[in-house]
Amino acid sequence: MTVVAVSLGDRSYEVAIEAGALAQAGERLKGYARGSRFVVVTDENVAGTQLPKLAASLEAAGMTIEPIVLPAGESTKSWDQLSALCDRLLRLGIERSDSVIALGGGVIGDLVGFACSILKRGCGFVQVPTTLLAQVDSSVGGKTAINTAAGKNLIGAFHQPSHVLIDPDTLDTLPRREVGAGYAEVVKYGLIDDPDFFDWCEANGEKLLAGDPQARTRAIATSIAAKARIVAADERETTGVRALLNLGHTFGHALEAETGFGSRLLHGEGVACGMALAFRYSARLRLCPAGDAERVSAHLKAAGLPVTLAEAGADASGETLVSHMLHDKKMAGGKLPFLLARGIGKTFLAKDVDLADVARFLDEER
Ligand code: NAD
Ligand code: ZN
Repeated sequence: MTVVAVSLGDRSYEVAIEAGALAQAGERLKGYARGSRFVVVTDENVAGTQLPKLAASLEAAGMTIEPIVLPAGESTKSWDQLSALCDRLLRLGIERSDSVIALGGGVIGDLVGFACSILKRGCGFVQVPTTLLAQVDSSVGGKTAINTAAGKNLIGAFHQPSHVLIDPDTLDTLPRREVGAGYAEVVKYGLIDDPDFFDWCEANGEKLLAGDPQARTRAIATSIAAKARIVAADERETTGVRALLNLGHTFGHALEAETGFGSRLLHGEGVACGMALAFRYSARLRLCPAGDAERVSAHLKAAGLPVTLAEAGADASGETLVSHMLHDKKMAGGKLPFLLARGIGKTFLAKDVDLADVARFLDEER
């Protein structure tokens, strides 16, 4: 078992990663229950594929489980689902000292985490992420949220889990396209500040995507350790360090907005193309060697991810794409903080990016 500690001031929690961990989860998670019962919230896809394994191991450890199965998909991160979930958890008698288990991808993790942040002014929760994106990103760091008419993730709270249990084998049932989308966030950590890890991705990415258990575990552990380090330096995104995690996300957000935030372009696919664009734009500004930008695009493309506007299905004008960026919640004081790079592993936050120039660049990319 690989264990990564997330240390935040006076609090800390462990992220445990092991192939097959779900089948042994009972003994590991037992200590997080107040009594002998766990409420497990999941979605309908994960209920059919992963819940039986988790339920069997909890039951073998003497626990009873109360499953709550929600519809799959981004639309579950809503006020209606939040309100219904809170009511159900209250009816089940959840107390502050309970830990609700969130079994699923980022949608379930974000919704359950947010519900637990407000239930009785904060009860515990355990993340058992089942998508690669959730295993390398959303399950750690404490950001929880729902979506509203005004935009994605605008209503939420910082609420850290009590524990995170990751079984890379859960990815066996995840559709290949979702694995690829999560892989974009893996590569992101190498591009931010770990060039050796990017080299590792170039050498091992294919194995990982094909399901190699060692490659998966190594990638998840390295990603989580990177995220834990960045979050520990800036838990509430006040100093700008945590913003590094948004590499590729400003461009990516614009592509997602242009394609309607849906299955046409998954979040991680938008991020992949966004990172490729951020590196090409950095090269165009002569901040980054052109060869590094080429390596980034080549690797993401080899992983089956989109790296051009056409591949992302976002054939809009630069002006239109920039207007989507301006709706991004990360805009501060009329300036868009933009993540650019001086090379692979040398990402930095640029504060005064000229948006008219970004629009021209995007027009050249069409
Ligand atoms: P998701 O939760 O919708 O999961 C993707 C799809 O895979 C769903 O259809 C789901 O039912 C299915 N699925 C999940 N695990 C499966 C498995 N093992 N086998 C078969 N099917 C499975 O999406 P996601 O990509 O995991 O997460 C996206 C969400 O995460 C977004 O809402 C995003 O805002 C959020 N997010 C949050 C943070 C954070 O820090 N809190 C970070 C990044 C993303
Ligand atoms: Zn992301």
